[in-house]
Amino acid sequence: MSAIDYQAIFNEIINDLDEIDEVGEVATYIPELANVDPNKLGMHLTTVTNQHFAYGDADEAFSIQSIAKVWSLTLALKHLGADTWQRVGVEPSGTAFNSLVQLEYEMGIPRNPFINAGAIVVCDILVSCLKNPKEDLLDFIRTSSGIPSIEYCPVIAESEVKTGHRNYALAHMMKGFGNIHNDVDCVLDLYFSLCSIKLTCKQLAQAFLFLGAGGVNPATQQQVITPKRTKRINSIMQMCGFYDEAGEFAFKVGLPGKSGVGGGIVAVHPGKYCIAVFSPRLNASGNSVKAMKVLEALTSKTELSIF
Ligand code: GLU
Repeated sequence: MSAIDYQAIFNEIINDLDEIDEVGEVATYIPELANVDPNKLGMHLTTVTNQHFAYGDADEAFSIQSIAKVWSLTLALKHLGADTWQRVGVEPSGTAFNSLVQLEYEMGIPRNPFINAGAIVVCDILVSCLKNPKEDLLDFIRTSSGIPSIEYCPVIAESEVKTGHRNYALAHMMKGFGNIHNDVDCVLDLYFSLCSIKLTCKQLAQAFLFLGAGGVNPATQQQVITPKRTKRINSIMQMCGFYDEAGEFAFKVGLPGKSGVGGGIVAVHPGKYCIAVFSPRLNASGNSVKAMKVLEALTSKTELSIF
């Protein structure tokens, strides 16, 4: 079978997109995110055989926000293994990413590790397991991605602290239920730092390619995590990676992925590629409007998805 010309497919997708009006709004509830140019559009696809295809603002660094929660889950699984699932579930939430309601009636056990409550519990696990949580998590992110220059962004983290009232509420409620073991400020410091990381589409496609390659990062040849846990992370991305729109993403795109309110989406085609798309205008669920359209067009035009 001949190799797919993803570059030609990107060009076709862009031509089709030009006909679509600019819709959606950039996230403003984190003040620093409101400063982003809403019309940016970048995409980068890296295959497991190290071929690269890019378009537009693929080398523009942006706030990856919740996409980083894939790393915290990966590291928690390495440390706590299956016991992680005593503290957080593996079911889609069907509620907004920062919702408090479900958490109250489910006794402080978040539905999954990607909604804010679940990611905060995962950060609590890391605070318990790691000697120097912020440094050790960053170290893991750098080595697993093969990108030693990755840093937390203090300006974005500070911006989140100032307006993170719902996250404080979630953490305190879970502490009340006994599902946060450490000091809330310390756990949220790790959580906000994690969410503050800025990367380009090109870097993101490299960083999460291990999920398309059985847990091995092809760029470094490092086994980041076992194939069995790679399967688990991909399935959680498939079911829970898009807030209360995970069904919509599975229906339209058919790949495991994770979005962030900075306008980025990472999607993985196991055995084939990892792609990152960045476009800051979000729909009401907090997912990038154009990034979803690009990925839907990609799997439709190639006629290849996991289904
Ligand atoms: N740091 C953001 C928050 O806590 C993450 C939101 C997201 O990307 O889902 O609200």
